[in-house]
Amino acid sequence: SFGDTEAQREVRANDRQYVFHSWSAQNKIDPLPISKGEGARFWDYDGNEYLDFSSQLVNLNLGHQHPGLVKAIQEQAGRLATIQPSIANDVRGELAKRIVEHSFEGARSVFFTNGGADANEYAIRMARHHTGRQKVLARYRSYHGSTATAITMTGDPRRWANGVLDANVVHFFGPYQYRSEFFSETPEQETERALAHLEHTIQLEGPDTIAAIILETVTGTNGVLVPTPGYLAGVRALCDKYGILMICDEVMVGFGRIGEWFAYQAFDVTPDLVTFAKGVNSGYVPLGGVVISEAIHDTFGDRAFPGGLTYSGHPLACAAGVATFDIFEDEKILERVRDLGERVVEPRLREMAEKHPSVGEVRGRGLFWAMELVLDRETREPLVPYNAAGEAAAPMNAVVAACKNAGLFPFVHFNRMQIAPPLITSEEDLIKGLDIIDEALTVADGYYTG
Ligand code: PLP
Repeated sequence: SFGDTEAQREVRANDRQYVFHSWSAQNKIDPLPISKGEGARFWDYDGNEYLDFSSQLVNLNLGHQHPGLVKAIQEQAGRLATIQPSIANDVRGELAKRIVEHSFEGARSVFFTNGGADANEYAIRMARHHTGRQKVLARYRSYHGSTATAITMTGDPRRWANGVLDANVVHFFGPYQYRSEFFSETPEQETERALAHLEHTIQLEGPDTIAAIILETVTGTNGVLVPTPGYLAGVRALCDKYGILMICDEVMVGFGRIGEWFAYQAFDVTPDLVTFAKGVNSGYVPLGGVVISEAIHDTFGDRAFPGGLTYSGHPLACAAGVATFDIFEDEKILERVRDLGERVVEPRLREMAEKHPSVGEVRGRGLFWAMELVLDRETREPLVPYNAAGEAAAPMNAVVAACKNAGLFPFVHFNRMQIAPPLITSEEDLIKGLDIIDEALTVADGYYTG
């Protein structure tokens, strides 16, 4: 309960004493003890309230303590809490069916995993066995997870210290109009040149050696990079030309984030494999998976797939997944994401870009947006350098502090303020959060040198 400093002290003490945290120097962190969550909000032990504009790690699509999710898990726990994966189970089958029915034409089955990294790991393993090829092309400015192949495919600094854990991964550049690698002046040029670069990469790596191209349909943490017009269709065409599989990593953007069940549906493209996690059940119980095309499914028709997991298709996780489909339909989640994105979020962010010199660009879709904060609009020099830490990150830390002091838990990455609230956030709360960001941007403006 609030003000319960003894309870708070114990939570903090146990955490500091016994919990080893992800991605952190253990002596340099001080994790915030949280006492409860409800909808789009959570509270610390002092009663400070945070409106969550990052949906935790962009997984809490239906918010904290959604009654439909809680009930589904409770009922399933009372009925059959766990069962091993080689058994046929009702909720596992029901969830796989619903996912396939909401997927691309030709989708055949689902392999369930524990989360996003292993979904990508297994998608690549399937692609390698299906094609008999080993190499994988992945993009710079991407995150695919932290297991061996997934972290090697990752195109951001989280890979650096891990070395090369999978020798058959090659990186290429995708479209990023604001900081174009291709000196392009229009989105169409960016598409054309990014595709030419990809085709050259394929040719120079050896088309017959490449099993798959993996990409985040809309790049998430690395900048909410929405594909330029025709880019994904162009990747599909190159995959077809060279017999390469197309894998869409939808771990962050699947299940409603941009107003579609899956983001590729907004771009009219048919992948061969799709990976998902996070939003499938808002992370109430760990779950991820791979949606598999008919052709790849058939590869493992008479020959065994060499892989598996004790908790593949865990009933508690799957029950929450089935409930997610019901809730999306009952609460018209996709419609509300599109509506609020277009009517409330986008116009307000564009208004902020007019008003604050530090906002270099606004981009996004649905309830997924990024603002590039810059020191100078002409040179586009970022507010903090790429991968800034310590003193160099001070300007962004100041923006974050302004948000938190005003009761908003923001999602920032490098020089970007990103926006990813739970999809159930009320219009009133969205406006409230945007008001706080608007105010916090005056802090960024203070560093402006242009
Ligand atoms: N792929 C993408 C696009 C992600 O954003 C993430 C996590 O943030 C992952 C994969 C890894 O998922 P997990 O942390 O569940 O392993």
